[in-house]
Amino acid sequence: MCATNEEWFTRAERLFPGGVNSPARAYAAVGGTPPVFVRGEGAYVYDVEGKRYIDYLAAYGPLILGHAHPAIVSAISRAAAEGTVLGTTTTYEVEFAERLQSAIPSLERLRFTTSGTEGVMSAIRVARAFTGRTTIVKFSGCYHGHADPVLGDAGSGTATVGLSHVAGVPAETLRDVWSLPYNDPETLRTTMRKRGERVAAVLVEPVVGNFGIVPPEPEFLRTIHEEAARAGALVIYDEVITAFRFAYGAVQSLLGYTPDLTVLGKIIGGGVPIGAFGGRRDVLELLAPLGPTFQAGTFAGNPLAMRAGLALLDVLAKENPYGELERKAIRLAEGLTAAARRYRLPFTVNRFGGAFSTHFVDGPVRTYADARRADDRLFSRFFHGLRERGILIAPSKYEAWFTMVPHTWDDVEATLRAAEDVFAELA
Ligand code: PLP
Repeated sequence: MCATNEEWFTRAERLFPGGVNSPARAYAAVGGTPPVFVRGEGAYVYDVEGKRYIDYLAAYGPLILGHAHPAIVSAISRAAAEGTVLGTTTTYEVEFAERLQSAIPSLERLRFTTSGTEGVMSAIRVARAFTGRTTIVKFSGCYHGHADPVLGDAGSGTATVGLSHVAGVPAETLRDVWSLPYNDPETLRTTMRKRGERVAAVLVEPVVGNFGIVPPEPEFLRTIHEEAARAGALVIYDEVITAFRFAYGAVQSLLGYTPDLTVLGKIIGGGVPIGAFGGRRDVLELLAPLGPTFQAGTFAGNPLAMRAGLALLDVLAKENPYGELERKAIRLAEGLTAAARRYRLPFTVNRFGGAFSTHFVDGPVRTYADARRADDRLFSRFFHGLRERGILIAPSKYEAWFTMVPHTWDDVEATLRAAEDVFAELA
């Protein structure tokens, strides 16, 4: 009978490459063996040895109500009892899409998928079909899932495991995807003025979540919209992390711009696998059976995800937790910054709403290049110091911390006390 994390992970390594079903979960960047989890409850996860962790990983973004929220558990249980996949349009798909549409008015039409990756892949395809062009402009360090076209310069997903090039992605595919620096309006303007007539879409994380939390500078965002419009290209916001993370709806409502297409995922499924893409009706109606392009999915819009998503939106609409999530993130960000300063460590916290990132570098962190400069060794010692003290963050200097509704102020203060001890060891 296996009891320890170590033993379970050894079994996992005999099954899954690197012991994981997604490489971000491996401890490739920080070293050591990941704990093996058995359950989550509220703000906490528990490993197979019974150790409890305060969870700021939030499963890389899908969780905002914490683990096993009663409303979600009840919605999923009821859905399961009535059939987990029905193979045709359901009332729940209609209700959930209507609720999303009223929270994100730019979704004139949408389709559900089962992952963010599929959402991005499909948005790119439909943008190419609409414009009759092939080139996609994206930004270095933004991660948009693991479809071939978006795996160049792909931030947290690939950088954490030390890949600058992903073998198996055809060079021809990447030739049609131009990766430009984030928050650099000049390079974007020059590129679009020179060769914009080839661009089908500009794809962007409107607030970056994949080389830390990096908000767009106003001129950068304005340039995206102005230059795309001028070139006849579409703008795609990848809101897989950002939608419903910072407000009830998409972050586009806070930033003041309307993209042509939006990709959703993570939070909207209430913790069940999901993705979606949507936007302008004239673009979405190019999809079969109405139009000449194609996208599909056996499990797309399945009742488990739809009903978990509906339950999630009910709770978010009723409780409006965003102010409190942000207040906790502010306390954490300020507390960590002050402690790091006491120990004279190079340290920058980037924060937007209830999400923040910790960079062992003197700031500011506004581009992927800035995030890459952060010290790997200090991060890895920080990560392990927190882990030993029961604080869970992602094993990557590029990933975010997320506050969740069940985090208590005691959790926040316990986290800061643990971090203080760790910083003392690092100094
Ligand atoms: N887009 C962004 C911004 C993401 O952060 C991710 C995943 O981390 C994806 C797309 C891909 O989503 P999924 O992992 O559900 O395929």
